[in-house]
Amino acid sequence: MRTTALLLVTLTIVGCRSRLVETPPPDQAALLSQQGADAVLWQNTSAEAYWLYQQAYQHAATKLHYELNRVRSKTDPTHVERPLAVIVDIDETVLDNSPYQVNAIRRGHTFDQADWKTWTDMSAAKPCPGALDFLKFAEAEGCEVFYITNRDVREKASTLKNLNDNGFPFADEAHLLLMDGTSDKTERRAMVASRYRVVLLVGDQLRDFDERFKDRSLNYGQDVVDTMSDSLSRYFILLPNPMYGTYRDAIQGKGTDAEKYARMKAWFEINGY
Ligand SMILES: [Mg+2]
Repeated sequence: MRTTALLLVTLTIVGCRSRLVETPPPDQAALLSQQGADAVLWQNTSAEAYWLYQQAYQHAATKLHYELNRVRSKTDPTHVERPLAVIVDIDETVLDNSPYQVNAIRRGHTFDQADWKTWTDMSAAKPCPGALDFLKFAEAEGCEVFYITNRDVREKASTLKNLNDNGFPFADEAHLLLMDGTSDKTERRAMVASRYRVVLLVGDQLRDFDERFKDRSLNYGQDVVDTMSDSLSRYFILLPNPMYGTYRDAIQGKGTDAEKYARMKAWFEINGY
């Protein structure tokens, strides 16, 4: 009898202990989300990001001014009468979505299309530093502005409202080319280029300039940068965005959060010193 009682007590203690040390399965979404925290902090709070955007847009204005002088010069043999245009991306180029990213990390979430739509429905994004001044300058210089974005067509009204509320020029249906099926912007850029002389493009992803930058299989795409450095220098202004993008997709790949987290973990294992 005493032996049985002792055994029961022992089993109970062992049972309690096993429950105490039992850890829940890791939440891969939360782990993956947390990995982006530094990048989001940097984008959302740093004076460095704040200045880098302004610096880039000042550079854009200088380049635009130079390019317009060249295009309008009578001695320029390539002079054509097509109207002039500037192409800009929207997210992390003219509108700052870092508050959405901060909230995603606070909740332990990764990117979610429904969450994102809730954010864009609010039309609450603030202009990226320097973006508004640059685009107003472009307008004053006689350039039309085209917004080529991979926001979904269902986000059209809220995006136009967001741009208009902030006073962005040319924020109308004719100048907004949303994603309709493909994230590849080549065709949309070509549509603008068929009717306008595009003097400058601005984006936070190299793919905002050329789809060839989607391929990161060789040297993370840096070889493509070397190959295209002349045209990049002349026609493109790149803005900083460590929060997401092709660079990260190249490591994480597609699939579930668990799969992405496993690939990130593996990358650090393989590349550790
Ligand atoms: Mg963007």
